[in-house]
Amino acid sequence: MTGFRQAQIDLDAVTANIRHLRAIIGTPHVIAVVKADAYGHGAVPVARAALAGGADWLGTADIDEALALRAAGIDAPLLCWLHPAGADFAAALAGSIDLGVSSAAQLAEIADAAGPATAQVHLKLDTGLSRNGIAEADWEATFAHASELERAGKIAVRGIFSHLSNASATDDRAALGVFTRGLALADAAGLTPDLVHLAATAAAIDMPDTRFNTVRIGIGMYGLSPFDDRSSAALGLTPVMTLSAQVAAVRRVAAGSGVSYDYTYRTTDESTLVLVPLGYADGIPRQASGAGIVSIGGHHFRVAGRIAMDQFVVDVGNCAVAVGDEVVVFGDPAVGVASASDWATAAGTINYEIVTRIGSRVQRRYPV
Ligand SMILES: *Cc1c(COP(=O)(O)O)cnc(C)c1O
Repeated sequence: MTGFRQAQIDLDAVTANIRHLRAIIGTPHVIAVVKADAYGHGAVPVARAALAGGADWLGTADIDEALALRAAGIDAPLLCWLHPAGADFAAALAGSIDLGVSSAAQLAEIADAAGPATAQVHLKLDTGLSRNGIAEADWEATFAHASELERAGKIAVRGIFSHLSNASATDDRAALGVFTRGLALADAAGLTPDLVHLAATAAAIDMPDTRFNTVRIGIGMYGLSPFDDRSSAALGLTPVMTLSAQVAAVRRVAAGSGVSYDYTYRTTDESTLVLVPLGYADGIPRQASGAGIVSIGGHHFRVAGRIAMDQFVVDVGNCAVAVGDEVVVFGDPAVGVASASDWATAAGTINYEIVTRIGSRVQRRYPV
C-alpha cells in the first residue's frame, strides 16, 4: 500500500542502470554522482546501489555531502568539487575525500590544510561553462604550482576534469578541444593524473571521445534521459523514482464548480473531484497546474486548476475513486504512468529538477 506521500526508490534499477551504462561506455572508472541527496533519491542507499553496479567512485558537490557518506560507513573513493569560502578542507582530507580544485587560491588552501599528509586533488578546468573551474589564462601557472606542491608531497594531482555545456554538439566539441589543450599543458608541467574526466551522462552516451578513462554519471543512473528526443526506454534505462500519494478527500460537485485557487478550472458537468495531498512544498511544480497527468486505478487524469502548497485536485468525472486510493504522479512509463520527463514538459523544466525537488515531507521507501 502506498504511503500518504511517498517516493518509492527502486535500488535494483540504480544498480542495473549503472551496469548498463558501464557496458556501453566501457571506461575503467565510473563516478556515480550522488549530490543533492542523490537527486532527491537518498544519497546513502543510492551510493551503495551504484557501487554494487560497478561504479568505483562517488561524486558530490559539497564536502558535507561527502562527509555524510563517510559517516554512513561508505569507504569508496569520493570526490567533491564545490567549495564555499572558508571550506573545511582539513575535515575532507581527514575523511579521505578527494577535492576538486577550481582556483590557484583553493590549491594553496588545500595544500595548507593537508599538514603533513598528501591531499588528493582533481584540477577542474573551465572549458567554456564560465562557472567553476580554473580559467584557461591561469592554467600554466596553476599547473606549475601544483607540480611543485606535488614534489613537496603536499598534494597529488589524482585527476583533471571539466564539465560540458550541452549547448550543442559543436560547443561540446569545442570544449573538448580546450580540455585537450589543458591536458597537454598539464602533461608538460609534469602532472600525471590517474583519472581524466569530462563527460557526464549525455556526453558519455553520445560523444565517445569525451570519455577518456572516467565518466561522471548522474541522471542516467536515476533512469532518466538527458536528451529531449530519447526516452529512458530508448536508452535502456529504468526510472528509479515512483512518486505517489493516497487520495485525501473525494467530493461530488455540481457542474460549474470552481476548483482550487483562482478558479482557473471549473467543472463542465456534475463530477467527482479527488484531492491529492502533494503540492509545491513537496516539489510538484505550480507551473504544471492544469497540465500534469496522474494515474488512479490505471486511468489518467489531468491536474484540475492550480497546484497549491500542499495539495492539488483532479477531476475524475464519474470514475469510482475512494479516500486512500493510490495516485501515481510519475514513475516508469513502461507501466503506464506519466514520467518525470512528462511532468518536466508540463512545467517547462527538465526531469533533473522534477526528481531533485521532491520535498522532505515525501517519505522515501526502499522496497527490498
Ligand atoms: C551534476 C554533475 C554531473 C552529473 O551530470 P548528469 O548530467 O546528471 O550525468 C557531472 N559532473 C558535474 C561536475 C556535475 O556537477
